[in-house]
Amino acid sequence: MSFDQLNLSAPLLQAITEQGYDKPTPVQEKAIPVILEGKDILAGAQTGTGKTAGFALPLLELLNNQAAKKPRTIRALILTPTRELAAQVHESFVTYGKHTSLFSVVVFGGVSIHSQIKRLQGGTDILVATPGRLLDLLYQKKINLSQVQFFVLDEADRMLDMGFIRDIKKVIDVLPKQRQNLLFSATYSKEIKTLASQLLNDPVEVAVARENTTAERISQRVYPIKKENKRELVSWLIGDGNWLQVLIFVRTKHGADRLCRQLINDGIRCAALHGNKSQGARTKALAAFKEGKITALIATDIAARGLDIDQLPHVINFDLPAVAEDYVHRIGRTGRAGAEGEAISLVTQDEAHLLYEIEKLMNKQIPRVDDTGYETVHLKVAKKTKAKSKTNLNTRKRTASKGRRESSDSSKQNSKHANHQQAKSRNRNR
Ligand code: AMP
Repeated sequence: MSFDQLNLSAPLLQAITEQGYDKPTPVQEKAIPVILEGKDILAGAQTGTGKTAGFALPLLELLNNQAAKKPRTIRALILTPTRELAAQVHESFVTYGKHTSLFSVVVFGGVSIHSQIKRLQGGTDILVATPGRLLDLLYQKKINLSQVQFFVLDEADRMLDMGFIRDIKKVIDVLPKQRQNLLFSATYSKEIKTLASQLLNDPVEVAVARENTTAERISQRVYPIKKENKRELVSWLIGDGNWLQVLIFVRTKHGADRLCRQLINDGIRCAALHGNKSQGARTKALAAFKEGKITALIATDIAARGLDIDQLPHVINFDLPAVAEDYVHRIGRTGRAGAEGEAISLVTQDEAHLLYEIEKLMNKQIPRVDDTGYETVHLKVAKKTKAKSKTNLNTRKRTASKGRRESSDSSKQNSKHANHQQAKSRNRNR
């Protein structure tokens, strides 16, 4: 199918061509006609599938077909879980709508509310917002949502994970009853299904991947390794593979800063992205990463949510996430929109139970790298942990017992140490 067959008008088709998109992605192919028909949708689409254009293009089309309102009133509201995602969704509306006269504004926390109020006073057709800042603006009566006709909940599963359900409900309460609702979620938990049943009116279900499965084009590998060897292995992988862009996930903000300092020591240009960083620092780090000025971006799950980096080739899970679904989100950062990607997980014996949960969720085993160049680690899950996870799939967050530390076979020689030294000096020279 081509974009021409989707009933989009010339200004949008022109913007699509300028973006270099040849054909719609599966989620776009399915969602765009349904949205144009005015129906509610429940879309199961992972990040990286082109889902943003999947709702932005038809909404721009529908808005553009209406008579222009003066002053502009908010007719489409998009809620996202994080600032970065809000900024990117807004950017998409601006990009795809650049040959229309429609206007988009984005609001999120962590930056001055006054400049946002000023921008809103100029009027806008589309508002992209994070829930907290939107409520602040509503309480201050700086925003009027009485004319909203289109409401999008983007990455709804993550919003619930982040505890936004009450904020979402408060927003929904002030919206006009008559409106079109679009709900996008990478995973379908019981909570998402409940929210969908409350929010959506006779929705069309649009699913582009099987529930809770990871994109098949992403090559995944596990390096069983001891904790103290992880950092060196990362430096080696980057140097040996001559990687230019890698996103590295860590569990804590402190861990992100520490790893960043260590990689800089190894001659790798990197930056840490986490919740303690100011919005300015986050934007700067992301821009430097996108422009290739830094090789490694080290991020916590929350900070990485919504990052849109075209064709990110490598993702490393330096720590495995405590929640198995986060693994799916993390590796979704690579292999975006048809590109091939590689996701590598460095797993200690202590994390074996987390790996077990991830593989259970995906219903497949991730291939292990036998010769990591370091002491052999056998990833074994204690029986108790397996039994526990069986009875309590949904509340496994942070509850799984720690697997017993496996004694490592110290007889294996570290055959890659010499390579590490070479990689180190190569990195310094970059
Ligand atoms: P998303 O899943 O919305 O975060 O989009 C992932 C990436 O896919 C973005 O960088 C988009 O620019 C890109 N993209 C969206 N639609 C297409 C398309 N039809 N062809 C190629 N790339 C696309």
